[in-house]
Amino acid sequence: MNTENPTTSAMRSRKRIIKRITTRSLNLIGHCVPSFIWKNLQDIYIYSPRKKALGIDSGFAPLFNSVLFEVRTRCNGTCPFCAASTQFEKRKDTIMPKALYIKVINELKNERYKGRIAYHVNNDPLLFPDLPEFVKYARTNLPSAWIQILTNGKLLTETIADRLMSAGINELTINLYSDDLGLQMSEVLDKIREKIIPQYYQEKQIQHGYGPGIGNTKIFRFNVFRQKLNVVKSSRAGTAPNKRIKSRYPRGFCEHPFTQFNITADGRVAKCCADFYFSDPMGNLKEQSVMEIWNEERFQNVRKVLLEGNRDSIETCRKCDYYGAKEFSRFGNLIRLCTQ
Ligand code: SF4
Ligand code: SF4
Repeated sequence: MNTENPTTSAMRSRKRIIKRITTRSLNLIGHCVPSFIWKNLQDIYIYSPRKKALGIDSGFAPLFNSVLFEVRTRCNGTCPFCAASTQFEKRKDTIMPKALYIKVINELKNERYKGRIAYHVNNDPLLFPDLPEFVKYARTNLPSAWIQILTNGKLLTETIADRLMSAGINELTINLYSDDLGLQMSEVLDKIREKIIPQYYQEKQIQHGYGPGIGNTKIFRFNVFRQKLNVVKSSRAGTAPNKRIKSRYPRGFCEHPFTQFNITADGRVAKCCADFYFSDPMGNLKEQSVMEIWNEERFQNVRKVLLEGNRDSIETCRKCDYYGAKEFSRFGNLIRLCTQ
């Protein structure tokens, strides 16, 4: 039974119409302007400011700010844009050995790592039974790191949330994928928000939104984001099931290989989270150290090519229309919307 208030429903449908008209107008602008102009605009208003903000415009790559552990190569989601969804999954179900994880955390400890630690690449971390134990080891050895759990929430219970909080996470973000964006927050999420988190943090310490508080482990982020399910996103290096052909608009620089360190369950490291099958590994942590791989010629070459904006010389990047920047100025965002 639809119990939605008629005024809310009218507002929602008005918003949908406005959004549709805006999207069509931006597409039309995108279509009418030649590609080389878009490329120049992207370089000036998106990629150059982003390189500068990351401190990599001179070609120097500082240490990554995100270490992502794909602790188990499985997800229980059904997102049509993701090759990890249950209807498209082809990977072997692999679990990260504890010894490998400990080796990596110990190496990060030697580097006094303070960035983000997360347990997803293309998987749901809650499918990994030893997650609280892994979190605890990271918390003990990397006291200043920002430990994030990003999940679709399907397996989230009060008990699991409590175990993760007690192990020392800094963030619990739930992406609720549903076409019904009016969906009410489930009872479990309400209880986590009202009963579990306040056992560990005071109201003023609990924040929302992205942006890890690196170096500020006194705050906790709790997010519930409602995400549309039946949408087309980026081609994800040619692996997105519902977008095999990339956008016809140009793409240049990509920041992922400068900021991310993605590790899958068997120890392979990818330059970005879009390389779903880790088909272009930068190395393997079973044989190499974190810093060896990060500074390896292979990783450096990828960065050099992407700094020059030349995606075509890397097979995965050639098939990828991820925009390449995580933050945009207002004008940069307008350019992005015209050239999706
Ligand atoms: S987008 Fe996330 S929740 Fe959806 S199938 Fe992929 S990994 Fe799972
Ligand atoms: S452009 Fe290349 S490095 Fe960037 S997300 Fe795509 S495949 Fe990864």
